[in-house]
Amino acid sequence: MTSPHDNYFRCDSCGDTIPSPDDGMIEWISDPVSYKEYDFRIIHNKQQCSKHKHTLGLCDNYISLFLSHNGLAYLLSKLDVGSILAPSHQYGTCHIEDMRSFTEIFRRLTLPNYEISRQYHQKAINDGLFIEANEVTPYTSVMISKIIEKYHT
Ligand SMILES: [Zn+2]
Repeated sequence: MTSPHDNYFRCDSCGDTIPSPDDGMIEWISDPVSYKEYDFRIIHNKQQCSKHKHTLGLCDNYISLFLSHNGLAYLLSKLDVGSILAPSHQYGTCHIEDMRSFTEIFRRLTLPNYEISRQYHQKAINDGLFIEANEVTPYTSVMISKIIEKYHT
C-alpha cells in the first residue's frame, strides 16, 4: 500500500502535475469579517496558479505541511479548534462555509491514490461503477484500486 506521500497532486488551476509536495500549496479564503473559510484548492507554488492572489483573506500553506506528521492536526483544527481553546463550544468552532471543497482536499491529502482515481470519476459514473454506491464506497481503497486498474494505463 502506498502512502499519501507517494501520490502526486494535480493543480486545480493549470491541471499539470505537481511533482513534489514542496512544489504545491493548499490555498483558501478566510473572510476577514465573517471568518468564514471557503474555496480550498491544491495549486502549484507559483503566482500564476493562485486563483485568489488578489483576494483579501487569501490563506495558503505548503502541501508538505499537511502531509507531515502534524498534517491531520492542521486539517482537523479546521473542523474544530478543540476543547482546550474553546471549552464552552460543545458544538464546535468550524468556520468552513464550503465543506465540499474542504472535504475533497482532505480526501486528496489523506486517501492513498485518491488523487489518481478522482480524475476518472466521470468515466466511472458513465460506466456505472458507482450505481450502488453509498456515501463511503466511492472513496474506499477497494474502489480507488478498481478505478485505477480500469482507467489508469
Ligand atoms: Zn498550476
